[in-house]
Amino acid sequence: TVSDGENADPRCTRQNSVSSVSQSLREWDIPYDELDRGEVIGRGRFGIVYSGNWHGLVAIKELRMDYVNDEKTLEAFKAEVSTFRKTRHENLVLFMGACMKPPRLAIVTSLCKGRTLYTHIHVQKDKFNMSKIIMIAQQISQGMGYLHARGIVHKDLKSKNIFLECGKVVITDFGLFNVTRLCHDTRRGNWLSIPPGWLCYLSPEVMRNLRVVQKQDDGLPFTTYSDVYGFGTVWYELLCGEWPHKGLPPEAIIWQVGRGMKPSLANLQASRDVKDILMACWSYRPDERPEFSTMQANLNKLPKKRLHRSPSHPIHLSRSAES
Ligand code: ATP
Repeated sequence: TVSDGENADPRCTRQNSVSSVSQSLREWDIPYDELDRGEVIGRGRFGIVYSGNWHGLVAIKELRMDYVNDEKTLEAFKAEVSTFRKTRHENLVLFMGACMKPPRLAIVTSLCKGRTLYTHIHVQKDKFNMSKIIMIAQQISQGMGYLHARGIVHKDLKSKNIFLECGKVVITDFGLFNVTRLCHDTRRGNWLSIPPGWLCYLSPEVMRNLRVVQKQDDGLPFTTYSDVYGFGTVWYELLCGEWPHKGLPPEAIIWQVGRGMKPSLANLQASRDVKDILMACWSYRPDERPEFSTMQANLNKLPKKRLHRSPSHPIHLSRSAES
């Protein structure tokens, strides 16, 4: 142990804290052989997601190994894992552990049984009534408010990362953005890979930092404020049933948002209060965007008569909107 005081050797202190982090990380280490991997659920930028069994049903998110070609990415992965283990909230996916020994790197979480908001809105074209929209938004705000209170930035809040499970919102994929790769270096040159429907969640300050040639440590400036911007886009999707900037090419979206232009609200038929929330989330200046605690207060204030809610009967998602 190192005593504090002037004679303490800073190298020892650092070594101690590094070893206590790796010690507590070891508690979350799942040997890959213990996982009973099932079928592929889907593929994303991060890698492949499988259903599986590890003391019950789980989702196994395997990192693409071509990403982990250096110590730095491995460290980024471990840092994300140590972030994950600090989260315990009913609107956040349950982190169960991780496989941290290359070449098998994976995150193990509870398996979400519902559908994502993306599937509800963009695939099934489900229409939620206002009371459901507000309830979903409140639960997202609760989960996000908790993350922010723990000092965690989601970095990738979008309808694909929000599940609806029997009326309950479950947010996934927080903090994993650092280990995904957007820039590709091929023989044909450098190019930036933009997943469909991703740009509309990016705040102006993040948008302005997108680079085709991105160096390893050129992280995008995600903050709690940029998460709030992303929430604004989810709010818009819930209200309009589509993404903002519909029909615009990526270059135009990057240019317009980077210059401070907001998406058109022509398709949004809603009250002033509803639009105000959107405009506040999409503020050009990050510090003008509300915190999630304020957001919850604002959502609570939305016209109650359209909520069909009585104090003794709290609202729940109807079966039609669950899976
Ligand atoms: P992107 O990589 O651009 O974020 P994505 O969100 O579709 O896209 P992943 O997060 O890797 O990519 O997810 C791949 C698939 O696995 C998606 O269909 C997602 O809904 C599903 N999935 C992810 N986590 C879970 C989970 N905990 N339970 C059930 N399904 C999950």
